[in-house]
Amino acid sequence: MPGQGMLILISGPSGCGKGTVCGRLIGQFPVMRLSVSATTRPPRTGEVHGRSYYFMTREEFEKLAGEGGFLEWAPIYGNLYGTPAGPVMEMLDRGEDVILEIDVQGGLQVKERFPEAILIFLITPSRSALEERLAGRATESPEEIRKRLIWVDTELGFLTRYDYVVINNHLDDTVNRIKCILEAERSRAYRFKMPEGW
Ligand code: 5GP
Repeated sequence: MPGQGMLILISGPSGCGKGTVCGRLIGQFPVMRLSVSATTRPPRTGEVHGRSYYFMTREEFEKLAGEGGFLEWAPIYGNLYGTPAGPVMEMLDRGEDVILEIDVQGGLQVKERFPEAILIFLITPSRSALEERLAGRATESPEEIRKRLIWVDTELGFLTRYDYVVINNHLDDTVNRIKCILEAERSRAYRFKMPEGW
């Protein structure tokens, strides 16, 4: 896709800091956008429809999925999550870079459709750090936390199919490392477009 924006995926176990890292990345690049996913999960306190997620009924979600409206979608912790295709394609066509903060199942679906997508797997320095972060978040019930921890080993099984792994220890280091990855990716020959009149 020469001349197009880069499609960047950030995945990793729940609680590894994806949301914070993505928020920081958005502020660092002038034309980087965060895709807003759709989900059948109910909103948490403070979450805003259209900004945090597009909150949908299962029926609405399945209808959109049936119409091919998602770039990818997957069942996670008993709910459905998906990336609406239209907005992402429009942003990429405008030359904007787009970050998807999605799970490993979705990540591999995207890689299949867009081999040039950049897949970054984020992990905490240790399992105990992950457990601490999840417990400290206070946004999920103990039952929700349990479901998320059970899923961690499955998620880690996908790690080697990603392009990059970044350990999220100190936020600034993590963001800098991802910035370096993206700068290198931007220089890939297949992304190069000869300047007009060269
Ligand atoms: P949460 O319910 O905590 O907001 O998100 C749960 C998981 O769903 C996270 O791992 C998050 O990355 C993933 N997720 C969020 N949006 C999407 C999406 O559009 N597609 C997929 N496959 N996963 C998503």
